[in-house]
Amino acid sequence: MRRDAALGSQSFNFATISSANFTATAEVARGDRRGEKVNKGGRRAGYVQRAGEKAERRGGPPGVRCRGGRLQTGGGGLGRAAHHRRRARGVMFIDLHEDIAHYFLTSLSPQPFDVDAEGRQSDLPKLRRAGADLVVAAVFPFVNSYSGWSPNLQLALEGFKVYYSLSDAHGVKIVEGRGDLAAPGLKLLVSLEGADVLSSVDDLRLFFRLGLRALGLTWNLGNKWGGSCCGGRDRGLSEEGYGLVEAAQRMGVLVDLAHAGERTALDALDVARRPVVVSHANAAAVHNHRRNVGDEVLKRLRDVGGVIGLTFIPSTISADPTPRDLAKHARYIRDKFGAEVLAVGTDYLGISTAPRGLESVDKISRLAEALREAGFSREEVEAVMWANAARVLREALP
Ligand SMILES: [Zn+2]
Repeated sequence: MRRDAALGSQSFNFATISSANFTATAEVARGDRRGEKVNKGGRRAGYVQRAGEKAERRGGPPGVRCRGGRLQTGGGGLGRAAHHRRRARGVMFIDLHEDIAHYFLTSLSPQPFDVDAEGRQSDLPKLRRAGADLVVAAVFPFVNSYSGWSPNLQLALEGFKVYYSLSDAHGVKIVEGRGDLAAPGLKLLVSLEGADVLSSVDDLRLFFRLGLRALGLTWNLGNKWGGSCCGGRDRGLSEEGYGLVEAAQRMGVLVDLAHAGERTALDALDVARRPVVVSHANAAAVHNHRRNVGDEVLKRLRDVGGVIGLTFIPSTISADPTPRDLAKHARYIRDKFGAEVLAVGTDYLGISTAPRGLESVDKISRLAEALREAGFSREEVEAVMWANAARVLREALP
């Protein structure tokens, strides 16, 4: 499914937020292979240089589900005490996709993550103000060169090192199993954005031991496992791709279908035995964009108990996006498939600009407000902001 014609039509300009620390770069793919990845705060030689964009519900513990049309908010994976502490402070939040490692590996002189850096989309002080409980922290394993992107194992390892360094320096826990979900404070769950650096299922086993707990099958390039949304023809999951999905689910690695081609996504959903996610994308029916997902994927995602993370990549939302525009995607998905399929995957630190009013993660409550204005109940807003994601993590992790 190619929707390239819809790309590159952004007319908005967020120069105001990029004037401080952000270096505005070419935004989301303009009909080329680039995705939402961007460099921030300058360029470093080497590594990613000229980036663009870079159900088993049966038997699981209760989370947030529709039962007889009524949405139920359980304790998520967070433990009741932690849940109540967060509730007391306001909106709680789980982000299914941030490019923290990419930011540190590609910025010229990034400030430490515990500094509330002006103009930075996400850092620890902002995440804490946002009430963030868990962030799925991406390892982006591609190097850009003059002739295009190529997967790079060393870069993937560098991403892991960033997360372990952050964990050591700032006491942020890296989640390895569902038992960790109840740990106090902000937690990271490490995800690989594209299985291109894996040459076999045995490699997944190694990455699992490194702490990997979520796996994107593809980024914007097709690979031996499956087809992408953006690179060549999507022939669906390969034989090996089926094996990879099954192995990941057996191990307790959350399968992520963001960036996957539609056929590949549907194939993966066919064999899913635990919930999967589309960590950062919006609804194609609301805004036609090749990174957005169609109704068939959303329906099957709902059927396996998975979620889609509403994403802040401007070109996937509308021509001049606002929180209200994003809430339109949410409302469409809720009305057609139920609120239990909704979550949030901002893509902060992987996008050069964010929607007006959502420039950084500490403004996340504006999304909650927009959802309320769009007719979401308080319970539904909580489900979108964290509880649905918590349910999926609890069911997908070992
Ligand atoms: Zn992405």
